[in-house]
Amino acid sequence: MAEVTEKDVLRALAGVADPDRKKDIVSLGMVSGLTLKGGHVAFAIEVDAERGPHLEPLRKAAEKAVDALPGVLTVSAVLTAERNAHAGHGHEHGHEHGHGQGHEHGHGHGHGEEAPLMPGVKTIIAVASGKGGVGKSTTAVNLALALKSLGLSVGMFDADIFGPSQPRMLGVSGAQPVSIDGQNMEPIEAYGLKVMSIGFLVPEDSPVVWRGPMVMGALEQMMRQVNWGELDVLVVDMPPGTGDTQLTMTQRVPLTGAVIVSTPQDIALLDARKGLNMFRQVNVPVLGIIENMSYYSCPNCGHEAHIFGHGGAKFEAVRLSTDFLGELPLDIVIRTTSDDGRPIVVSQPESPHAAAYKAIAAKVWDKVQLLQSSKKAPKIVMQ
Ligand code: ADP
Repeated sequence: MAEVTEKDVLRALAGVADPDRKKDIVSLGMVSGLTLKGGHVAFAIEVDAERGPHLEPLRKAAEKAVDALPGVLTVSAVLTAERNAHAGHGHEHGHEHGHGQGHEHGHGHGHGEEAPLMPGVKTIIAVASGKGGVGKSTTAVNLALALKSLGLSVGMFDADIFGPSQPRMLGVSGAQPVSIDGQNMEPIEAYGLKVMSIGFLVPEDSPVVWRGPMVMGALEQMMRQVNWGELDVLVVDMPPGTGDTQLTMTQRVPLTGAVIVSTPQDIALLDARKGLNMFRQVNVPVLGIIENMSYYSCPNCGHEAHIFGHGGAKFEAVRLSTDFLGELPLDIVIRTTSDDGRPIVVSQPESPHAAAYKAIAAKVWDKVQLLQSSKKAPKIVMQ
């Protein structure tokens, strides 16, 4: 099939009109940073911050128009409000400014005019789920380790304050972060990842009752006060669900993109969709959906049983105009390895499951890079 060209994409986008300004988005100069990579297309649509939350249909329409072109494999369109961003704070992934509502939720910690939240951290990927128990933390840890296996420097921030499980999954329960400079904490190292978790700071057996504002204060402070050093990517294991805590977090942390983990049932019950909508509402690009516990893989005979139906996520991803990133079966070895603190990507790196996580990581990283370059690229003007 012929490779899609920049011209093709712009021609397709010239058929998409801004609903408020009644002209097409190309002649309005709203399209920026178009990048093409072997049939994978990414671009940004520049909008005023206050219009962002209402322009999801426009974003979707733009993606759809490009997706219809022959030779296009995936499309990622992001809404950005960079033109209205505060200039001169030197924070290149400061697209939290584009989230529009970010500042209104401030409670004294607003980082709009402050130093970047984490200066050496190049990209941040949130791993989220519509509800608890779908394997979000298991997926997050294996994804982080798979990104590491690609040669990247990777951090893991366990923001799952309701049940921080990364210390256990990474075999570092009970570790106590120290502070060398008396200000910031040193992350705990595990399998080459730099790890921070609220689980290091509170006793595991004493559940903490968190109230919304307190949660955000604690999380943000914790994230900021870690000597992450230089990281290509920080993986954030988000609190499950789509309530206020999660929403606030998506607004206040400069997320590069989000990955949604869901089970087949969860997809059927629309929980995954809630997760997706939450990120879209605040203009965080959704990198795609991972289906976990996709089918049952019998450890004795290798038989695959599709207990909850199969392929739902793939289907739903298309319907929701996001990517299907891959699937993992319900397999006892995934549970035992992560619950024992030796996630399968590091303890059985040659296994098919590790390969599946690595393939997902490669896809995620490709998309992240496309998004990054589309943000940095100069604006496209109609000739
Ligand atoms: P969440 O973060 O969504 O609450 P967890 O990652 O803690 O979910 O997973 C819940 C339980 O399910 C854990 O015991 C975990 O080991 C197990 N689990 C997760 N994914 C799988 C899988 N694909 N196969 C088998 N067990 C899994």
